[in-house]
Amino acid sequence: MARIVILGAGIGGVPMAYEMKETVGKHHEVIVISDSPTFHFVPSNPWVPTSYRKPEDLKIELAPVMKKKGIEFIQKAAAKVDPLNNQVQLVDGSAVAYDFLIIATGPRLAFDEIPGLGPDGYTSSVCHVDHAAIAAQDWDKFMENPGPIVIGAVQGASCYGPAYEYLMILETELRKRKIRDKVPMTFVTAEPYIGHLGLGGVGDTKSMLESAMRHRHIKWITNAKVDKIESGMMFVTEVDDEGKDKKKHELPFKHSMMLPAFTGVDAVRHVDVEGLVNPRGFVLVDEHQRNLTFKNIYSIGVCIAIPPVEKTPLPVGAPKTGYMIESMVTTTAHNIAEELAGKAPSHHATWNALCLADFGDSGVAFLAMPQIPPRNVTWSAQGKWVHTAKIAFEKYFMRKVRKGISEPYYEKAILKLMGVVRIKGK
Ligand SMILES: Cc1cc2nc3c(=O)[nH]c(=O)nc-3n(C[C@H](O)[C@H](O)[C@H](O)COP(=O)(O)OP(=O)(O)OC[C@H]3O[C@@H](n4cnc5c(N)ncnc54)[C@H](O)[C@@H]3O)c2cc1C
Repeated sequence: MARIVILGAGIGGVPMAYEMKETVGKHHEVIVISDSPTFHFVPSNPWVPTSYRKPEDLKIELAPVMKKKGIEFIQKAAAKVDPLNNQVQLVDGSAVAYDFLIIATGPRLAFDEIPGLGPDGYTSSVCHVDHAAIAAQDWDKFMENPGPIVIGAVQGASCYGPAYEYLMILETELRKRKIRDKVPMTFVTAEPYIGHLGLGGVGDTKSMLESAMRHRHIKWITNAKVDKIESGMMFVTEVDDEGKDKKKHELPFKHSMMLPAFTGVDAVRHVDVEGLVNPRGFVLVDEHQRNLTFKNIYSIGVCIAIPPVEKTPLPVGAPKTGYMIESMVTTTAHNIAEELAGKAPSHHATWNALCLADFGDSGVAFLAMPQIPPRNVTWSAQGKWVHTAKIAFEKYFMRKVRKGISEPYYEKAILKLMGVVRIKGK
């Protein structure tokens, strides 16, 4: 009997546990290690500050469902992965041995790279549900005394969709409350142009998002390097196409949310062996999701190393979103099953990007297949239906986690979604 350990229980780790167990059945042990007792549906965090969702709405207790599925659940943080001894060291000093390890630890939020960034500094965050809960308190205070808003993503960030989403959700909320006229809004991003999204743009995302911003009277600064943040003030250097300093901006704000750059989490990035992670602490994997040096280690989700899609004046990372994470999960489950059967892994993940960016009342959707251009499918669309589709995705995913459903769903849902859009367009 082999022991398959999954480290991390988020958007990648939980479906990984269900699909792995479904694939190997009772013959092999599946163990999940998580630093949190609950699963968190991260994509809905931007809805928390405006109270469209409460933090509790986005959490699911994992122990009961894992038990029902025959998966051991260890609710402790990992201190360090130890690939030379095939074990994960936990913070309480104990260790969990493995035959196969799947690292699904998501990102470390690198707020420390810019003075004043993040919830311990002066800007809010929606990257974690607990941060979003703090952002909600900040938003409530803002409502008593509104003023300028600065939203965006800093240099080195690899997740841009949620910055646009949060910006538009707030804008919609301000209009609903009839105080939009009191709030100048600025979007600040390291992207070379609006709608780049770390993907070199997808279809018409540049014109669609620029147009949405113009319609909503939102100013923007692209190629923006955030130098530091002080109480109520952001210091930004705009660079030219060569990455040279072009203009300095001082942006006052009463509320700000800036997506940080990511690195690998400490338990993975501080491993003192060569070949597991890149200099930013992201796990190095081949096309089978397997590490080349430690072949019994696989990795999925935001914690894997993916190069940027193209060179940009400031560092702009490639996003890792739910659709591609799902394909990493399925690939890993099948490859480990093959290895257990004495075969070489043969499955490859399809790294496609789907994003539904909610605007609070409408939204923008885009699909890039594959993620890195040139692509077979480049599709973007907008409308009120995106908001509805986003709610449907949330419901579907939460149900999957709550019920322990192992079946992947993005592929099916996307085909359905594109079918609906095509029919509507006729
Ligand atoms: C605000 C936001 C909105 C997003 N919206 C979308 C969207 O709409 N659609 C989309 O497709 N993608 C979206 N994404 C991108 C992506 O889908 C999410 O980031 C997703 O959560 C990534 O899944 P993951 O499993 O890699 O990481 P996570 O979901 O972050 O899971 C990692 C897990 O590992 C645990 N962990 C970390 N360190 C340890 C340790 N040392 N020991 C034990 N456990 C540990 C964490 O607690 C966490 O539970 C969004 C991302 C963000 C930040």
